[in-house]
Amino acid sequence: MSYRSSWMTEELEAFRDQFRRFLAKDLAPRAETWRRQKLVDRAAWLALGEMGALLPSVSEAYGGLGASFAYEASVIEDVESIVPELSTGIVAHGAITASYLLKFGSEEQKRRWLPKMVTGEMIGAIGMTEPGTGSDLQSIRTTAIRRGKTYVINGQKTFISNGQAADLIVLAARTGEAGAKGISLIAVEATDCKGFRRGRNLDKIGMHASDTSELFFEDAVVPAENLLGTSEGQGFAQLMQQLPLERLAIAIAAVVSMERSIRLTVDYTRERKAFGKPLLEFQNTAFKLAERKTEAFIARVFLDWCVERMIAGDLDTVTASMAKWWCTDKQVETADECLQLHGGYGYMQEYAISRAFIDARIQKIYGGTNEIMKLLIARSL
Ligand SMILES: Cc1cc2nc3c(=O)[nH]c(=O)nc-3n(C[C@H](O)[C@H](O)[C@H](O)COP(=O)(O)OP(=O)(O)OC[C@H]3O[C@@H](n4cnc5c(N)ncnc54)[C@H](O)[C@@H]3O)c2cc1C
Repeated sequence: MSYRSSWMTEELEAFRDQFRRFLAKDLAPRAETWRRQKLVDRAAWLALGEMGALLPSVSEAYGGLGASFAYEASVIEDVESIVPELSTGIVAHGAITASYLLKFGSEEQKRRWLPKMVTGEMIGAIGMTEPGTGSDLQSIRTTAIRRGKTYVINGQKTFISNGQAADLIVLAARTGEAGAKGISLIAVEATDCKGFRRGRNLDKIGMHASDTSELFFEDAVVPAENLLGTSEGQGFAQLMQQLPLERLAIAIAAVVSMERSIRLTVDYTRERKAFGKPLLEFQNTAFKLAERKTEAFIARVFLDWCVERMIAGDLDTVTASMAKWWCTDKQVETADECLQLHGGYGYMQEYAISRAFIDARIQKIYGGTNEIMKLLIARSL
């Protein structure tokens, strides 16, 4: 049976057809280099921008295609399926960082930053996590103190995706009292910010092409007009509003990764022989893949429903949390089982399943851990 996502249109099929060919021909061959240098080339960002793949849902007034969220979803799907090395960076740049500017930025802020983010001239990052706090976002300690027409920022962030490359960082900082009400979001133009310094590109167990960094602020000076929103103290509420989008983006990547792991494993087990027959003819191999294919399809149908809700503008926090934890848990289980079905070759880096396995693991942690997702769902019981 052939299945087509309910949100797919002919126009989007045409866009994605061209985009997929571009990814396979122009970007996939460079992934190995990016993994080695722990950074995606700026040229790749610019090429993605030229294809209209960065922030497609930004309106034409800011250089985007003015498309619906379906385009964002489709870009994440294609990237995850063909060049997964790009996936986290693109999501951090678009679905996360740019979405804060779009939703809470003033007209002037949007005009200043979005067009360059659309072309890839400016790369975005979101700075929430600190060495002392990740899940408990209300406890962040980085401060932004208003001095005349500026904010003076002091503190440290860690684990920031695109941290090495970022030109614009949407930073969560404390502008007031302890707790949620004292947090604001401030856009930091990293390239010329005095007092701002990037730490090293952190060594991760996987996702080697994606740069992840510590960021340091020592009396860093940022224009006060870079505050997102009309007044201080709105940051926590702004984060809560946008986190369903981030979680859905992670779930999209998870489902595509599941489908890809299954594809890779069907191909491999069809070719590889043991005891005189293809591995796929062993009942255990076929049954395991049959189970995983069923789960991936269930995940796909639920995901498509969530994408529809996001397009309609009514995806709620609880449902997005369900999608994030369940799809990423299934992604990790699927990658593990598919690696097992490859035998020893599955443990070799040259086999894509080994990277799918190791790269999957982070999905249960970032964007809010899967335990935090269950807390959010439990509150709705
Ligand atoms: C590769 C990578 C990329 C990342 N990218 C970004 C980024 O771009 N921007 C950014 O801001 N952050 C980013 N992060 C940070 C990520 O979002 C945090 O690591 C995550 O939110 C968890 O925070 P923590 O590491 O401080 O863990 P902790 O909060 O210390 O949690 C440790 C463990 O305790 C559990 N736990 C905590 N509180 C509870 C509770 N109330 N109930 C039950 N269990 C609980 C957690 O689920 C987890 O299992 C990234 C992290 C990594 C590793």
